[in-house]
Amino acid sequence: MNPKIGDLIYAGKAKDVYETDTPNHVIVKFRDDITAGDGIKCESLVKKGYYNSVISSKFFEILEESGIKTQYIELIKPGYMLCKKLRMIPLEVITRNIATGSIVKKFPFHHNQILNPPIIQMDYKNDVYHDPMLNDSITTALSLATQQELNNIRKITFKINNILKDFLLEKNILFPDFKIEYGFDSHGNIVLGDEISPDTCRFWDLKSWEVLDKDLFRNGESNVMDAYMKIASLILNNEDKEKWNISHILK
Ligand code: UDP
Repeated sequence: MNPKIGDLIYAGKAKDVYETDTPNHVIVKFRDDITAGDGIKCESLVKKGYYNSVISSKFFEILEESGIKTQYIELIKPGYMLCKKLRMIPLEVITRNIATGSIVKKFPFHHNQILNPPIIQMDYKNDVYHDPMLNDSITTALSLATQQELNNIRKITFKINNILKDFLLEKNILFPDFKIEYGFDSHGNIVLGDEISPDTCRFWDLKSWEVLDKDLFRNGESNVMDAYMKIASLILNNEDKEKWNISHILK
């Protein structure tokens, strides 16, 4: 497939979405920008978009193989992902296996407390209101999703958590929490969209509990890209590395 990149239809904090020559397809371009704190802290990291697109593609492929519907079609080249066009639902669906980050600031959980069963939390994706936490009544009253759609989103999210948690454990990575987003495809199906990357997940080294994600940037550390490259190195097989021409960096 060799799609033509068309007009820009959406520019987010770290990705741009372009039309293509096929009406139901879009190209998602992963940029090098990285932000934190509602976009107040903003920098550019060389090749971040490249690595995040490759990492996200790998996760989407694993999920598709396990029967999860995603918007992913193919990575045209690093940084440029061909996707099904979705009407996005403005929900940040956060799953937590270990308590850390905002949840320990807002509630009396201990830092690093194991959460079994995992917590699924939904925040309203809205910068003006600073992404407040929702409950189902507020979500349905705002017509963001129906109760049935919310139940479906929870069911799919639990499955995604199990698939990715097990996959990552095999690669010696802990999966404390992650944020995903869903949308509707042209048939009205709820489909996983957006990205799954160190920008949107917490990844910790299983043995040392070393942080390998965007928390390094949030905390002002300098080794952010080393961590992103380490995640790519751990989750990609040799064939993936050859394909994306990153074996020389990651071996
Ligand atoms: N997250 C995200 N985008 C957001 C908020 C959170 O991708 O706007 C991810 C974040 O990277 C982490 C998880 O969701 O993996 C839970 O984040 P938390 O609520 O703990 O917020 P934080 O402490 O990162 O502000």
